[in-house]
Amino acid sequence: MSIDERQSVLHSWSVQADWRAPTVVGGAGAWLRLSDGRRVLDMSSLAECSNLGHQHPKLVEAIRAQAQRLCYVSNAWGAEPRARLADMLLERSGFEGGRVFFTLGGADANENAVKIARQASRKPRGTIIARDRSYHGATHLAMALSGDSRTQAQVDAQGMGVSHVPPPYAYRCPFDSADADDCGRRGADAVARRIDEIGVDRVAAVLMEPNAGTNGIVAPDSYWPALRRATAQRAVYLIADEVMSAFGRCGEWFAWQRHRDTCPPDMMTLAKGLTGAAVPLGAVVLSHAIASRLEHEMLYTGLTYCGHPLACAAGVAALEAYADENLIERSRTLGAQLLAQAKRLQQRHEVIGDVRGGHGLFVVIELVADRDTRAPLASWPHTPPALKALVHEAMAEGVSFATRGNLILLAPPLVIEEDALDHALTLLDRLLERHFASTPV
Ligand code: PLP
Repeated sequence: MSIDERQSVLHSWSVQADWRAPTVVGGAGAWLRLSDGRRVLDMSSLAECSNLGHQHPKLVEAIRAQAQRLCYVSNAWGAEPRARLADMLLERSGFEGGRVFFTLGGADANENAVKIARQASRKPRGTIIARDRSYHGATHLAMALSGDSRTQAQVDAQGMGVSHVPPPYAYRCPFDSADADDCGRRGADAVARRIDEIGVDRVAAVLMEPNAGTNGIVAPDSYWPALRRATAQRAVYLIADEVMSAFGRCGEWFAWQRHRDTCPPDMMTLAKGLTGAAVPLGAVVLSHAIASRLEHEMLYTGLTYCGHPLACAAGVAALEAYADENLIERSRTLGAQLLAQAKRLQQRHEVIGDVRGGHGLFVVIELVADRDTRAPLASWPHTPPALKALVHEAMAEGVSFATRGNLILLAPPLVIEEDALDHALTLLDRLLERHFASTPV
């Protein structure tokens, strides 16, 4: 039997005829092992999800032990790992008295957060305000929430009750501000204005990525506190999509905690790093205030695999590993180093227009055709051929980089060794020189 899936699997986010990827047969730490015996350094944690690296022994053991005890029981019954994980999440987030609704991944966490917000706010058809150039998943409502030009044409966002506002994209500020924090505040003002235009009584929630956005926006620090103030003043729920940004990616357990725990959202959605991606799992964490509004009424939502015991056991082990191995702090330290290294590349390569992020191990490098005009190298969301070639060559040299449009996204597992990180950046330096004929700047 062939292990080549090229003819049989319908691959996501791909042109099927062009899909050519090596087969992964194992991994350890930040490295993947391929079927041809080669090792590849994973500089993106696969889909920015394998925060604990590959085959973390504590995760593997927790899944094995739970599989032996009890693989599955539905939500109509209790399950020990589910109860433990919910308690751990409520404790870590400070959402005392809140509740956790478990899902299978990020898109359905966002879908269910919207349903819960509409039910708890008593605005069953209430509008959800989201952002252009955001990413919230690829199911229909999640696609409508995502201000992602790749998928917007496939859904009627307005018809699904979603209204988009411009993002706090400081490098190309849609509010014409040259100052990042000012751009962030204007981004929050745009949300406030949109709520007022639609009417507070008709807006169920604002749903946003708090810091690092999957489509490469990193919100200035002014953004989240201003957004929290604007939504609290209007008594509109604020939902943080922490699917990618949580579990150390932004140097905190949850990215909103960058603001010294003063700006908690009313709900947050989780997935990816929640189990270190070892088993699919998502979650909606709700505040006490929202949970108490639902306490005595029927919740009309559910999934067969809500809070699957195997996934929850992996979640418990993942949260223990983040804490025991100080990985959140490690990400903060290495993130600052990675940002400094990427900024040094920017000094050497004219093609790098902007470098952002670095609060944890998430750094975005944006390539431009012209630094002065900031003209993009290719129109979003297209990836310039030279960047595709760079990624291809990096892979041949044993390092896997993720790109999105003109962006290189550096988001390695939090366990990556420092010399591996240096190795990846040295390779990137060399390949940028080769592919973009860089003149020192
Ligand atoms: N939200 C964010 C911020 C994400 O990055 C993603 C996935 O990339 C999702 C939601 C969707 O998660 P999933 O792919 O698990 O449905």
